[in-house]
Amino acid sequence: MRVVIGGGAGFVGRELTRLLRHKGHKVTVISRQPGPEKITWDELKSRGLPPCEGAVNLAGENLMNPLRWWNKSYVNDLFSSRIDTTKTLAQAIAASPSPPHSWVLVTGVACYKCSLTAEYTEDSDWTPFDLFSTLVKEWEAAALLPEDVAKSTKQVVVRSGVVLGRDGGAMKQMLPAFWLGLGGTLGSGTQPFPWIHVSDLAGLITHSLGSQTDTPPLPPLVFNGVAPALNTNYEFTKELGHVLRRPTICPVPVFVLNALMGSERAMVLTQGQKVIPKRTLEAGFQYKYPDLTSALKEIVGIN
Ligand code: NDP
Repeated sequence: MRVVIGGGAGFVGRELTRLLRHKGHKVTVISRQPGPEKITWDELKSRGLPPCEGAVNLAGENLMNPLRWWNKSYVNDLFSSRIDTTKTLAQAIAASPSPPHSWVLVTGVACYKCSLTAEYTEDSDWTPFDLFSTLVKEWEAAALLPEDVAKSTKQVVVRSGVVLGRDGGAMKQMLPAFWLGLGGTLGSGTQPFPWIHVSDLAGLITHSLGSQTDTPPLPPLVFNGVAPALNTNYEFTKELGHVLRRPTICPVPVFVLNALMGSERAMVLTQGQKVIPKRTLEAGFQYKYPDLTSALKEIVGIN
């Protein structure tokens, strides 16, 4: 099949592209920059969706961009880069003479309220309560297809936890400090740390693209894109130190993170949610890295 991937040149998109091509599928990336095997968002708007059997959106301004101060313009970019691209792709799918069989959007677990005790599955009710949950609400709403199109195109939302992998995301920013023995817990360390290995997220997206039902469900099918191991930030920190054989005795206090990142953004690191991938497991998805030890060993290159 051919899969069109918005934001496919990014961290998750590169892994997904590798996996799809390895399985013999073809990939077209939608990007702000033209290039081989790519179309731009403007071309998508003017020429419509290229023929494809699957569509995915992974586009979005990086939430942890270390080069940007936390201010209104950054927040606007976080919203518009996700919502506008998702809307554009959904509209192109709806206008296509032969819409794809599957349409997958990756959002985040920030829709679930941070708590040390509450456990969330895909069936948990939630209403927006802060900036990031509002973002998820508007982002997922932007993906909705008109009813007649949704009868033939399966809509899937994967709510991802922190994506762990060697080539990008949180690990790329954290690893240098941990290698130097300067790693430590963030805040109290007791906060849940929902995570998934990038290879498993790519696998789950591929699984969502592929598994066809005779009558696609009209409302989007939600999968929690997190590993089944429920870990805290303390457990993550200690395991990473253990795998690297480095001490992890430099905790970073909340006020330092707040000052560096802005308190609204720092909350993503200093608080967390216990997220259960109930439907993901029920759908028969097999994780390559279900636990922190196997995931971190692969990432730092120790087998
Ligand atoms: P990246 O930061 O790698 O960005 C993905 C792509 O988005 C980029 O390659 C870029 O493509 C495009 N992009 C960046 N800024 C903008 C912008 N301002 N306007 C339009 N497009 C833009 O993301 P990841 O691969 O890490 O994540 C993929 C998706 O998953 C994102 O939507 C992210 O929010 C979500 N997610 C990621 C998590 C993580 O830990 N990484 C956790 C939870 C959710 P180009 O330059 O080619 O246009």
